[in-house]
Amino acid sequence: MNVPFVDLNAQYESIKDEIDHSIKSILEKSHFIGGPIVDDFEKSFAEFLGMNYCIGSGNGTDAMEIILQALNIGEGDEVIVPACSWIATSEVVTKVGARPVFADVLPDLYTLDPKDFEKKITSRTRAVIPVHLYGLPAEMDDIMAIADAHNIMVVEDCAQAHNAMYKGRKTGTFGIAAAFSFYPGKNLGAYGDAGAMVTNDPELARKMRMIGNHGQIGKHNHLIEGRNSRLDTIQASILMTKLVYLQKWTAERQQNAILYHQHLQNGDLQIPRVPEYSQHVYHLYVVQVHQRAKIIVQLSEAGIQTSIHYPRPLPFVKAYQYLNHKYEDFPVAARQMKRILSLPMYAELSEEQIDYVCDTLLKSIELNKSI
Ligand SMILES: *Cc1c(COP(=O)(O)O)cnc(C)c1O
Repeated sequence: MNVPFVDLNAQYESIKDEIDHSIKSILEKSHFIGGPIVDDFEKSFAEFLGMNYCIGSGNGTDAMEIILQALNIGEGDEVIVPACSWIATSEVVTKVGARPVFADVLPDLYTLDPKDFEKKITSRTRAVIPVHLYGLPAEMDDIMAIADAHNIMVVEDCAQAHNAMYKGRKTGTFGIAAAFSFYPGKNLGAYGDAGAMVTNDPELARKMRMIGNHGQIGKHNHLIEGRNSRLDTIQASILMTKLVYLQKWTAERQQNAILYHQHLQNGDLQIPRVPEYSQHVYHLYVVQVHQRAKIIVQLSEAGIQTSIHYPRPLPFVKAYQYLNHKYEDFPVAARQMKRILSLPMYAELSEEQIDYVCDTLLKSIELNKSI
């Protein structure tokens, strides 16, 4: 049996008629940038989250960078980011001229460790970017309390957490602003690059929209120098079509996670831990195993694709060599680095496929134990 890591085509096939129709109607109108479809999606996504403003952007990385820029974060400032994330989270800090400061993550939850976040605060710290990594909300009560006490802004990285909930509240609604990515493989994905920022602050919303559209406040009226990072009309129409299904797809991912849990809970591996107050949306289903390299090969030989998110915590990638970090600086991230393994996860996975992945994985773990 073949089990791909993701299967974007399976999802497309399930909504093909609607998608084809919406793309065709845009081609016929040939209105490709902005317009009512983009407005509709921004409004719908804001409503979906219960936020006042949503502004589309070219991708999730731009969304985060624009947020930081709109918050006037720049030279001389520090922004705390978790050691475990996609590089976009820290990249944007450097891009606006500030300095990324890494904090360790919580064991088995993979999200920002509030205690280490607090330890990394200096007089220069302006913001913190909690990442709801893999689809599990970060520990927002502790993070918000620490940030408030130190007058630090919270910008949420929701690229992997569309529709996730923390204590009954959606991720993306806690901080001053949040960034979403609609990269094709994300839980809500476009058919190309796309992203969005959300906020309840009208002044911040106005500024973010202005930055993403050449600093314009009206046609050819440039208040400041901005940039070009807009959500295009075709992507907005795809997202609009898909948003209706997000709840269903989230439930299907969660159901698949339950099947994984049931099969794997007695095996010699660490399955995702979810605090009872959190709703994980399983952008990724990440386990921890010993002998990972051998297991990956054995799964691959059995037709099962896996991946690693991410092979190196950010402080240890080449781009951050200049910070001279040692493994001891981030003991939790360093310990998990060699053990994390992402199993296939998407709404359309069948029960047979999950059974097969679990059986093969458990056998492989047993086999490598006895060597
Ligand atoms: C995907 C991702 C981003 C960046 O989104 P793009 O749309 O690819 O620019 C940022 N942060 C995290 C955690 C991501 O997974």
